[in-house]
Amino acid sequence: SIVVTGATGQLGRLVVDTLLETVPAQSVAAVVRDKAKAADLAERGVELRIADYSRPETLAEAFEAGDRVLLISGSEVGQRVAQHAAVIDAAKAAGVAQLAYTGVLGGPEADFTLADEHKATEELILASGLPYTFLRNGWYSENYTANLAPVLAHGAVVASAGEGRVASAARADYAAAAAAVLTGPAEEHLNKTYELSGDTAWSFAEYAAEVGAQTGREITYNAVPGAVHLEILTGAGVPGPFAEILVDVDRAVALGALALRTGDLARLIGRPTTPIAESIKDALAAS
Ligand code: NDP
Repeated sequence: SIVVTGATGQLGRLVVDTLLETVPAQSVAAVVRDKAKAADLAERGVELRIADYSRPETLAEAFEAGDRVLLISGSEVGQRVAQHAAVIDAAKAAGVAQLAYTGVLGGPEADFTLADEHKATEELILASGLPYTFLRNGWYSENYTANLAPVLAHGAVVASAGEGRVASAARADYAAAAAAVLTGPAEEHLNKTYELSGDTAWSFAEYAAEVGAQTGREITYNAVPGAVHLEILTGAGVPGPFAEILVDVDRAVALGALALRTGDLARLIGRPTTPIAESIKDALAAS
């Protein structure tokens, strides 16, 4: 089977949607921790395998010999190395044919806190000896466009990323790339690393200008130092440790860590990536 973990998450759902466009539902399995949340997937004919990354014993039935597996990185920051290790052990024990993993753009070169668990996971996968495919995802455009309410309320995009650029792409683009490496001839993608990012790297000033153009309002880019950004985020109710992670990401953006463009994403999906302007348009239409 083609097995997708995190299938009830935002990326996972899009991966399953894309897979079902080309492969029969009975050859797709979803590893989920919440069966009720996956009821719609079961209705579409996708096999459910219930397992929690944090409970290794539940992972014993998650994989079968020959499965092509996508491990979607977990969302519980700080827990993820142990969680992913348990998934890798289970995949190894089952004898899967391919283990694809959603890591972070730049891989070992990514020098920001959020990247650490991805780097450690890639090392564990390499040490397992399993045939792997590293999908090193750049930033989702939705990280920004899902957060337009405060931008519109204050008439400003606030960030501590300086003049840094972000080669973001839509979640659906990354999902299509994951589906591409799980289908078609397996050999093509085994033991390969893809650095996935958008075709265009935009600056926060450009982002603010585009939001302004689409809404007919004056939207500026308020570039603040990291310490001020941290105060603003915690003042707005973001928990301290997570605010620190976000400020650290902006530091990395300022240094260009999320601007890398290799063209891998457009090549894998066979079309250009979704422009940030389109993601802004979609977010405005949905709000
Ligand atoms: P979501 O938070 O929507 O999805 C995370 C998925 O992981 C969910 O399906 C969740 O299950 C599952 N999950 C989390 N913990 C466990 C666990 N202990 N056991 C089993 N499943 C678990 O995130 P996205 O889909 O948007 O993104 C996918 C991943 O990409 C994130 O988890 C994160 O690692 C990374 N990410 C990347 C970003 C980028 O810009 N490149 C931005 C944000 C995250 P459930 O549905 O039950 O909650």
